[in-house]
Amino acid sequence: MCGIFGITGHPEASNLAYLGLHALQHRGQESAGIVASDGQHLRSYRAMGLVADIFTAPVLEKLPGSAAIGHVRYSTAGVSQLKNAQPLSVEYAGGQMAVAHNGNLVNARELRSSLEADGAIFQSDSDTEVIIHLIARSRQPTFEKKVVEALSRVQGAYSLLFLTEHQLVAVRDPYGFRPLVLGRLRNSYVLASETTALDLIEAEYIRELEAGEMVVIDAQGMRTAQPFAPTRLGRCIFEHVYFAKPDSVLFGTSVYEVRKELGRQLAREQPAPGADLVIAVPDSGVPSAIGFSQVSGIPYDVGLIRSHYVGRTFIEPQQSIRHFGVKLKLSAVRQVLKGKRVVVVDDSIVRGTTSRKIVKMLKAAGAVEVHLRISSPPTSWPCYYGIDTPSRQELIASNHTNEEIARYVTADTLGYLSLEGLGTAVGDRERSTFCTACFSGKYLAGELSPEAAALSAKGEPSPEAAIAEGAVATGPVVLSTRPLSA
Ligand code: AMP
Repeated sequence: MCGIFGITGHPEASNLAYLGLHALQHRGQESAGIVASDGQHLRSYRAMGLVADIFTAPVLEKLPGSAAIGHVRYSTAGVSQLKNAQPLSVEYAGGQMAVAHNGNLVNARELRSSLEADGAIFQSDSDTEVIIHLIARSRQPTFEKKVVEALSRVQGAYSLLFLTEHQLVAVRDPYGFRPLVLGRLRNSYVLASETTALDLIEAEYIRELEAGEMVVIDAQGMRTAQPFAPTRLGRCIFEHVYFAKPDSVLFGTSVYEVRKELGRQLAREQPAPGADLVIAVPDSGVPSAIGFSQVSGIPYDVGLIRSHYVGRTFIEPQQSIRHFGVKLKLSAVRQVLKGKRVVVVDDSIVRGTTSRKIVKMLKAAGAVEVHLRISSPPTSWPCYYGIDTPSRQELIASNHTNEEIARYVTADTLGYLSLEGLGTAVGDRERSTFCTACFSGKYLAGELSPEAAALSAKGEPSPEAAIAEGAVATGPVVLSTRPLSA
């Protein structure tokens, strides 16, 4: 989970990168960085924290030049430390380069071991550094060719921006797991994870990069290539469900419209007859709750208020902090909830901690019944392609039935959208172009983490087997009989 932004051909490149990253802040809040090129030197600034706190005017003044790339990070590979903040930048025999990466490589560990055995010294834990080493070692004559050679050895999810003294290079992996769009601001080209960043700087949206496409922008203009063998598309469905900002156009479709359709479909599949009102868990549940209300005819109201001043404490991805964070983030509106039978719509249940807190909060505020509706299928499988999901054992839906989950979160009823319904909501023509591994266990790219390998060594069903067979593990698989403690 990260956001990337790049611009070239603009005298205020780093200022615009700052604005672009600001618009992408929802994609990562742990660290941020910008690298700018003045045609001779790359200058970099990276720090832990939020974009607006890091990039003060004096910092941006130290990043002159007409090209820049930037990154906001939510760690999925490598711990949350400054050394893993991006863009990573280095000097090597070919000059200077910086890279900003969204996605997760699935064979980084193996590549790193072989590079280290060969004498490479790594400065971070991030999988992205593997790409830098592979580029630096390439004997290809041009930077573009070095990039292609390096990427032909990596597997997994990558939307990448590279900056050298003279070039900006953008690449999307052949599955197209993570988004990347191209825009134009007068004479400048702009690249961003989501269109919301183009909107903020008033750039015109040109198009999404194709899966497997490489775009090179330099003094000769822009050129594009498809250097990798084509494969099926695997665009991340969870971007639509939860991760992207609703005002963005993602994979060619409005995130807001998809989320509303998820809610409509949810109301058809999992109605809650007799309920008095529909509320959302803000912000990600709002469009789906509106869709649910439209189809069910149950009035929509605002029963939960989200604080916008929570800051980083909530975002720290540690269970202990997440736990109390829910209360910091959300508060219940008694006047709306008192004496009511409430449908509450959220986008997903991961560990179950949030839902449990929310249901209890709604009941404490006077709701007499709480019917939890989830606008995606049970999240039963970890993501290896860049969404921060915990291990399989921690995913409540991987080892508990819906009834057990409902009991744990203390909801009167619980209903998830079906995988079929999710496909219907994204469109029948489009459904086969998405990666649904977190819901279906159908992994598309590469071998898996040591955790999955350990599971299969113990004889546990593992997604690895699914990949090997190109098939799916069906239904929730019982991995542990650990009871859910109160
Ligand atoms: P949990 O308490 O682990 O069940 O968290 C579920 C909540 O976290 C839901 O309200 C989701 O909106 C949100 N969520 C889903 N996926 C993620 C993620 N990868 N990182 C952070 N929050 C998430």
